[in-house]
Amino acid sequence: METILVLAHTETDGTLAKSAREAMHAAATLHKALAGSQFVIGLAGQNLQAAANSIAACPATRYYGVAGEEFAQSRYATDAAAAEALCRAAQATIVVTAATARWARVLAGVAQRLGGRADTHVTGVAAADGKISVNRWYYRQRMEGTLTRTQRPWFIGVDPGSQTACDCGAGTAALKLVPVTLPEAAQRTTVTGIREPRADAQTIRPDAALLFVTGAGWTKKQADGQTHVPEAEKLILDFLKQSRASLGSSKSLVDLSGEGQAVLPFLSHLNQIGQTGATPRHPKGLSTCCHGEEPHTVGWRFIGERRAISLDPNCGWARGKTDVLYVADAFKVMAKVNELLAT
Ligand SMILES: Cc1cc2nc3c(=O)[nH]c(=O)nc-3n(C[C@H](O)[C@H](O)[C@H](O)COP(=O)(O)OP(=O)(O)OC[C@H]3O[C@@H](n4cnc5c(N)ncnc54)[C@H](O)[C@@H]3O)c2cc1C
Repeated sequence: METILVLAHTETDGTLAKSAREAMHAAATLHKALAGSQFVIGLAGQNLQAAANSIAACPATRYYGVAGEEFAQSRYATDAAAAEALCRAAQATIVVTAATARWARVLAGVAQRLGGRADTHVTGVAAADGKISVNRWYYRQRMEGTLTRTQRPWFIGVDPGSQTACDCGAGTAALKLVPVTLPEAAQRTTVTGIREPRADAQTIRPDAALLFVTGAGWTKKQADGQTHVPEAEKLILDFLKQSRASLGSSKSLVDLSGEGQAVLPFLSHLNQIGQTGATPRHPKGLSTCCHGEEPHTVGWRFIGERRAISLDPNCGWARGKTDVLYVADAFKVMAKVNELLAT
């Protein structure tokens, strides 16, 4: 009989992140498919009651918490101690958590302490005939594998964005606090602040409905024999501002900065989509001035509806990599799109 524990931490405002609710959804899927299984919630953070209450209508029968100021910030020693205590209190055999940077960092260590195993980047969970299986992608999202394990506890880190977030209602949860005695050495590391781009300079938006991708074509000589980089910059930024899309790029375009050519200054390698870049998840994607070569388009694996604008009717997108290809000048198309968005 499996005991499924969802491991989550509260955010600084005391709420649960969408990624935590996605992990809950995955865990609830398992619970539903495994007759006789138990569903338990384990929370870590400064104050937990409000977060527990916000999900009180979920099918969990027990709620455990490791609470206190020392568990508010992301720190290996305290996160691992909290996770270990919650797993022991729940006597968990399956531990489902969002594979955020914070949890992914401690999962393997906690699994080691409890004699278990951990799998990361899980994008799907299922159970049939009492047997649990998980899905994940290999070789830069080109191959999908399904695996199962007999070792317990089994830690399953679910990739954020791969599940629908559970929408269980609020109520009053009977939260049982689990005491954790921390040695002083466990609190040596302190988060002194967070450095991040200004809100309007932040172009990577994982929750955006649209991924807007720019390719090297934006910086190439155009029909008049000239490059038009400042114009390209304006068109792209205007579109991002109006659409709130997330910005991706081809490798060629982000690499140009290293080659000393005129580039778009708001792009970094973090924007790169593809085999050696990111594989973001968005309902829709629009690629512009990009050729759609295989190493780039493997990064489009999890984009729902794909469209592309390229001057070349024989580009990679035309070979089945996109749902709609506009063989057109992206400068003209995006100028018109921006004009329409502004009205
Ligand atoms: C091992 C390996 C890993 C790689 N990993 C990645 C990766 O992770 N991500 C990645 O992106 N690439 C990756 N690449 C590189 C990839 O193969 C391509 O070289 C790259 O994606 C091409 O970028 P691009 O389409 O922007 O540029 P280009 O190939 O130069 O294409 C520019 C396109 O813009 C079009 N264009 C020009 N002007 C206009 C206009 N006005 N309107 C519309 N279209 C216009 C042109 O017709 C052309 O199709 C990898 C390569 C290798 C070998």
